[in-house]
Amino acid sequence: MRTSLRPIVAVLTGAAILCGLTWLAASAAVAAVVGPSLPVALAAGMPTVLTLGADQPDLAYGGSRTLTGRLTDPASGSGVAGAPVRLETRSVDGAWVEVALVTTDAGGGVSITQTPTATTTYRLHHGDPGTPDESTSPEVIVSVHPALTAALSQAAVRARRPVTVTGAIVPAEPDVALDLERSTGGTWQRVTGTRTAADGSYSLTAAPAAPGSWSLRVVRALPDAGVPRAGSAVDLPRLEVFRLHRYSVTTRGTIRADMDAFRAAVAATYADARGWARAHHRFRAVEPSSGGAEFTVVLAQAQSLPTYSRVCSSMYSCRVGRYVIINQDRWRRGSPYFPGTLEQYRRMVVNHETGHWLGRGHAYCPGPGRSAPVMQQQSKGLHGCRVNPWPLPREVRSVS
Ligand SMILES: [Zn+2]
Repeated sequence: MRTSLRPIVAVLTGAAILCGLTWLAASAAVAAVVGPSLPVALAAGMPTVLTLGADQPDLAYGGSRTLTGRLTDPASGSGVAGAPVRLETRSVDGAWVEVALVTTDAGGGVSITQTPTATTTYRLHHGDPGTPDESTSPEVIVSVHPALTAALSQAAVRARRPVTVTGAIVPAEPDVALDLERSTGGTWQRVTGTRTAADGSYSLTAAPAAPGSWSLRVVRALPDAGVPRAGSAVDLPRLEVFRLHRYSVTTRGTIRADMDAFRAAVAATYADARGWARAHHRFRAVEPSSGGAEFTVVLAQAQSLPTYSRVCSSMYSCRVGRYVIINQDRWRRGSPYFPGTLEQYRRMVVNHETGHWLGRGHAYCPGPGRSAPVMQQQSKGLHGCRVNPWPLPREVRSVS
């Protein structure tokens, strides 16, 4: 008796998930539609009605999607517990094929995770074909696009040296045009390009010239300059492009300081992430005899400073041409006008004189209580600023 039977509603929704994370998300989705009504028992022979959730985003090849649905009694809105529900896919010839059989939970819900290898049309199906209680959900299409992968050969590269990006399109798509792009000023610009091999793999090589932190991506070339479709671009980790400077360490005059400690302090200052490394400069110590040094760090007896230039004072450190000259008296005792620690002084003076070698001129205290620029002559006084051995952000930017 049709009128005496309660129709059943099955709702199929898709909970987006990649790579299988999300039993919790699927459960939450089911809980969200269960509502306060009490579950009802399945009654044989009931006519049924089915509805469907919204479309979901594309799925990358290899990813998973959890489909959630619910069998309900439309008269009361209650879920139907303990009922068999089949998940079906439409085959190429149009027939529906069962891929999973599940039983509704206490709230009438079902949750089925699938890893389709191609775009697939799904539906839920309850009841035997042709029977009064048969119901099918509306169809859900899970679109699957090829996965594009990309990896950098290294996280940092010296300017103008090669860096390689390798990856593949999976499943394999041969002869696909791919571009390596860099984001500059908010827009993506092509760096170089290639085409995938027969197995879908590719390799791109670039030699970034400009020091900095590069944002890169690999993108399927768009012949019609259209909007990239899903899965057609993959972002890479940021690439640090740095300038490398080789330096040597030497002395002038009578030296009482521990030279091993001096070398170690200079190297630690150059390697410190708070230093000129922030401006994409890296430093490598070489032997003076190698002839490969671009500049020389000198620990000099105080009286010898003026022998480098008339502008150098025996009171302070100095930079003349390729020589970064650290005054031994200041190195050992600091400056009476510098209120920080001796360690701060040493880091400050190495960064300050090296900053001159990198092309920086003097800076001035921007205001009472502010951090002193490292290019301020902190040896001669802070002028209300706070001790600071490291380049300020604006000093970093102006050098890079
Ligand atoms: Zn100076």
